[in-house]
Amino acid sequence: MTEPARFLVFMRELALDLLAVVWPTQCAGCGRADRDLCGPCAREVRTCTVGRSEVGGRWLTLSCGEYSGVVRDLLVRFKHGGEFGLHRALGDRLAGGLAEALAVSAAAAQHSGSGAPTAPLIVPVPSRRARVRSRGYAHMTVLAQRALRRVKRANWADNDLAREASRALIYRGLVTTRGRTGQVGLRSQDRIRNARRVRVPARCERILRGRQVILIDDIVTTGATISAAAEALIGVGAQVTCVLAMCRAERTDSVEN
Ligand SMILES: [Zn+2]
Repeated sequence: MTEPARFLVFMRELALDLLAVVWPTQCAGCGRADRDLCGPCAREVRTCTVGRSEVGGRWLTLSCGEYSGVVRDLLVRFKHGGEFGLHRALGDRLAGGLAEALAVSAAAAQHSGSGAPTAPLIVPVPSRRARVRSRGYAHMTVLAQRALRRVKRANWADNDLAREASRALIYRGLVTTRGRTGQVGLRSQDRIRNARRVRVPARCERILRGRQVILIDDIVTTGATISAAAEALIGVGAQVTCVLAMCRAERTDSVEN
């Protein structure tokens, strides 16, 4: 870290500590009286081992850990409680997975021999419009933006990855369609039917055609949501190179949305 950057971090930490004194709050992770996220919890959230699996038998899926503990608490509060500030720690966690996803994307481009220097697109799985309106932000887009900024800053020494990250674009190329509800509590067939209520808007088709796409979502369980989203993208000619999920969860009928 450069000297000015270290100074900025120091000043930011100082401001957060002062804010916590003036305006006492609790850590979102452990509940201690502290900042909105205490140092140890923030470190825990930011550190992750990226796991690989094949969801739905088709999609190489990278996930930044299980849907449990502090990460689960934070994601719930960020997604359902409107606590926008938590996007920093969560986005930083996602950055580890995004770096790997970009490497997968770059390797796929070389392998296909297309050689075309088109930027990889990072496409978030969309939330329902009503949810985005009530929350005030598209939560996966916010996390993807933070993660991409983080990858660009952290990997400046790795030329290939730096190049891939600097070219990558976050692109909202999917929307939900009428009748889409939350996935919680739905039976298997209903989950699949509900998950299919996603499409590529006509205005995005030309951009997506022939492009490499990293599909990004918060929680992956059965894979119904990502399968439907990936098929919609493939339907307009995009190449889905991998899926990146914030968390991987066993199906409990209380998570995926
Ligand atoms: Zn804490």
